[in-house]
Amino acid sequence: MEIRSLDIPEEVLQFYLDSGIEKLYPPQAEAIEKGLLDGKNILAAIPTASGKTLLAELAMLKSISKGGKALYIVPLRALASEKFDRFREFSSIDLKNGKDRGVRVGISTGDFESRDEWLGSNDIIVATSEKTDSLLRNGTAWMEEITTIVVDEVHLLDSANRGPTLEVTLTKLMKLNPECQIIALSATIGNAYEVADWLGAGLVRSEWRPTDLREGVYYGGNINFRGSQKLIAASSKDDAINIILDTLEDGGQCLVFESSRRNSVGFARRAGAKVSQLLDRPTRDALDSIVEQVLENGETEASKVLAQCIRNGTAFHHAGLNSAHRRLVEDGFRENKIKVICSTPTLAAGLNLPARRVIIRSYKRFDSNFGMQPIPVLEYKQMAGRAGRPHLDPYGESVLVAKSYGEMQQLFDNYIDADAEDIWSKLGAENALRTHILSTIVNGFANARDGLMEFIEATFFAHQNDTWGLMEVVDDCIDFLKEHDMLKGDTRLVATPFGNLVSMLYVDPLSAATMLDGLDKAENITELTLMHLVCKTPDMRQLYLRSGDYELINDFVITHAEEFSEIPNQFKDTDYEWFLAEVKTALLVLDWINERPMDDISKSFNVGEGDIHALAELSEWLMHSLSRLARVRGHPAADMAGMLEKRIHYGARPELMELVGIRGIGRVRARRLYDSGLKTVEDIRKADPAVIGKLIGTKTAGKLLREIGMHIDIDPGNPDDVGSKTMDS
Ligand code: ADP
Repeated sequence: MEIRSLDIPEEVLQFYLDSGIEKLYPPQAEAIEKGLLDGKNILAAIPTASGKTLLAELAMLKSISKGGKALYIVPLRALASEKFDRFREFSSIDLKNGKDRGVRVGISTGDFESRDEWLGSNDIIVATSEKTDSLLRNGTAWMEEITTIVVDEVHLLDSANRGPTLEVTLTKLMKLNPECQIIALSATIGNAYEVADWLGAGLVRSEWRPTDLREGVYYGGNINFRGSQKLIAASSKDDAINIILDTLEDGGQCLVFESSRRNSVGFARRAGAKVSQLLDRPTRDALDSIVEQVLENGETEASKVLAQCIRNGTAFHHAGLNSAHRRLVEDGFRENKIKVICSTPTLAAGLNLPARRVIIRSYKRFDSNFGMQPIPVLEYKQMAGRAGRPHLDPYGESVLVAKSYGEMQQLFDNYIDADAEDIWSKLGAENALRTHILSTIVNGFANARDGLMEFIEATFFAHQNDTWGLMEVVDDCIDFLKEHDMLKGDTRLVATPFGNLVSMLYVDPLSAATMLDGLDKAENITELTLMHLVCKTPDMRQLYLRSGDYELINDFVITHAEEFSEIPNQFKDTDYEWFLAEVKTALLVLDWINERPMDDISKSFNVGEGDIHALAELSEWLMHSLSRLARVRGHPAADMAGMLEKRIHYGARPELMELVGIRGIGRVRARRLYDSGLKTVEDIRKADPAVIGKLIGTKTAGKLLREIGMHIDIDPGNPDDVGSKTMDS
């Protein structure tokens, strides 16, 4: 189907022709035939890189040309930025829809307790599903103006963590804007028809890909495909390294999936020793410049390991990396400087990072209940689907690695020839329902038990299951919410002001109850008390208790016993161990706000910088909630929690709060200034610029002074000279 034949505005057509898109891919053409441009709902369950985003773009732009507004929902923040960057290219499209300007795009991923009304002037708004849920809860006005909703990665309805939020958010949006067009994008899943049916959408289901994908299993010196084999030269003892060398010699790149972080780091190091021998001079130079940036942006020992790998042309990628490192690795790979990325399975979901060959070195993953378990077919298909860069590689290959003939046969049967699993709603659990029942009542989508059941009838859960079994769970949730003063009434249910606040803060009602209950019970409230309360909530991610931790943390608990709101009975093993894990998590965040160096925290808790930032971010939001809840209850701990919230944000002690508040001055530089007697903005104003330059570097000193309104002339010839300063008039 020619793109010229589509019923889209001339400006949109020209935009795509200019970017070299002339013909639609077959699944795209099918979506058009099913009414994509006529406002019909569509579920596209097609492989990655088969043009799903383009489908969504066409629907959004068509709707915007008629005065509409689009909401693009993604599961991850990293994906939100990726889409935001892409859609910003539409600023050159003037749709002549009376607005006399290009298409405007906004992104909303930040604080939960805000409406982001300012975003309403955009034509496309990109948001995570959690943020969308929170915008709905906060009654954001522009939500009602949405005419097109795109849901990316809708198969995540199956995720125990994120699925229920996505499901309830979609249900609310459908109720709020019944005329809205929904475009849902999904990986290929077993029961795509069921999701399509729920959404009232036409289904486009296809295995078509723009680049051929060959799926094989390495065994006995060959990559074995159905019907053919490829011999791999054995220059190393490690099969996966041999496959990598073969790919590189052919001009390709590799993505390697490993079961754990530690294995992915280890493999990236080992592979690097061989890969480096194949690098030419220009590539080495390009890699050296990435190495420099890695070292500039890292504070831990792990940065040095990453730098060493990158110098050799390999890298590892997992959630422990800080965001700067993640981006450097991704960009370096996209630009074909880094040749190999070794990753945990997290990379398979979402990020657009294709490679000629994907090697699945381990198809097992650790599960805390069952030990090492084979990954689901859906996950395998997502990893394999990363093989082959459209328009760049002649084909893509995915390779599983087997140790025996029997295992190879099994891998063919269980993965390559298998269909992806069905997905299942996870909304039925009490901990998922509790929070959404409260928000459903707060937002006025229901105001009685019957109304709640009616709302639930509209969810994907009800589409898949009988809901009579859910009555009891709903009743338990209502009882819980009443007991904790979040709901009131019998026939007519109303949220209390407190319930409203809990919903707007976006915390699980159980988290709110846990924190307040803890405040009531605590006798001697200290920073530790509050930090532990935050780490005790179901919204926090707790660290694992490793062997060796027990004794250490137990000793700590004994010496600080009076500071905890409650200590479970030590003889109830699981309760007590869970408690110790909460304390361990609290100790990490306390180390962070007491300015313990990143590298020390990383080593003693065995976590990466990315983990520390993630835990800080979660605890900041929960501490903010604790402070707000304590304040409405008139509890004196509100101020202490407010200060802790700020300290978590900056990772610093109270005396640095003024300095870290200046943009561009992190906790390390602020500490250097403070310890040299520059304790306030006023001190800095009065100080000799050369002294400031010596402390934090000339460039940063210049920026700092500009930031506080001082005009600086810097002499570039003299690195120690930050010039003379005058007040900006
Ligand atoms: P997905 O969202 O399914 O991963 P994208 O929509 O991002 O895939 O498409 C992958 C790449 O293919 C993009 O670079 C996009 O511009 C390109 N593409 C999409 N549709 C077409 C088409 N019909 N013709 C040529 N290139 C296309």
